Amino acid sequence: MTMIIKDFPAPGSNYSTSDLRQILRARPSTTIAELDPDATPGLPTEEDARKLTMAMGPELSAYQERLYAESKTESCQDRRVLVVLQGLDTSGKSGIVRHVFGLVDPQGVKIKAFKKPTKEELSHDFLWRINKAVPERGYIGIFDRSQYEDVLVVRVDELVPPEVWKQRFELINEFEKGLSDQGVTIIKCFLHISPQEQEARLLARLADPSKHWKYSRDDVTVRSKWYDYMAAYEDVLNLCNTDVAPWYVIPSNKKWYRNWAVASLLLDHLEEMSPQWPPADFDVAEQIEAVKNSLSYSANG
Ligand code: AMP
Ligand code: MG
Repeated sequence: MTMIIKDFPAPGSNYSTSDLRQILRARPSTTIAELDPDATPGLPTEEDARKLTMAMGPELSAYQERLYAESKTESCQDRRVLVVLQGLDTSGKSGIVRHVFGLVDPQGVKIKAFKKPTKEELSHDFLWRINKAVPERGYIGIFDRSQYEDVLVVRVDELVPPEVWKQRFELINEFEKGLSDQGVTIIKCFLHISPQEQEARLLARLADPSKHWKYSRDDVTVRSKWYDYMAAYEDVLNLCNTDVAPWYVIPSNKKWYRNWAVASLLLDHLEEMSPQWPPADFDVAEQIEAVKNSLSYSANG
């Protein structure tokens, strides 16, 4: 069955976050042009979205702390979370880092933004720098761009021959399977905006001197190749959408919806992982006595 986002029930219907996982998961043979970036499945109003997103903060933090505590035990659970954010310029990758991951205790979050590879990075295979940035156990990692740039910009700008990038879909699937086997829960989010929305956001950046630093002349060059990027993204969504590393398509024209959806997906995966406080590896009653008796105070205090 190919259900597409524009077919979502009207806003106002009640969803649980696990329904959302089903709803946003990229379908086989996805055609991006059929997905409505203005859709807001599962949420009645902007006001609710903002409140609900804020309310998820303490829960997300509590889960992350348990994940970390669990990783410190002898039995040494290797579990961690990796959220991969992909989308064109202005789609909101850094907005999500700020609004969603900003809700979680910063000690438990590792953010990595992938830029044009350095000389050193280029001297290794494309997954080398990615592998180095995988979060350690107990952490929530976020990739702002990722291994997928090596089949997106690299393909569109013809930085390597087609026979090279075409092999990478399978290499990425194997890599992600390996991560999953090592305890990494992978959540991949494609932030889907319309070209009209991108134009508005780029013009807004240009209209505001405090946002000029966010603007790059390259953004126009990339934008002019919009449909090449969409074709490349379609291959990504269709060829690298495994059950251990699924793609979710996040309608992102509305920032409040985008933030709520990514926070909800993260929370749902953490609930499913259900990290547990580790039991003490000492006798608690004995240690209470030990603390009480560990300093002998002098008679006059
Ligand atoms: P930004 O995320 O806006 O700071 O821009 C980062 C830039 O790095 C984008 O233009 C990406 O396309 C580019 N980039 C990221 N990864 C790669 C890669 N593997 N090869 C070439 N360019 C890349
Ligand atoms: Mg940019």
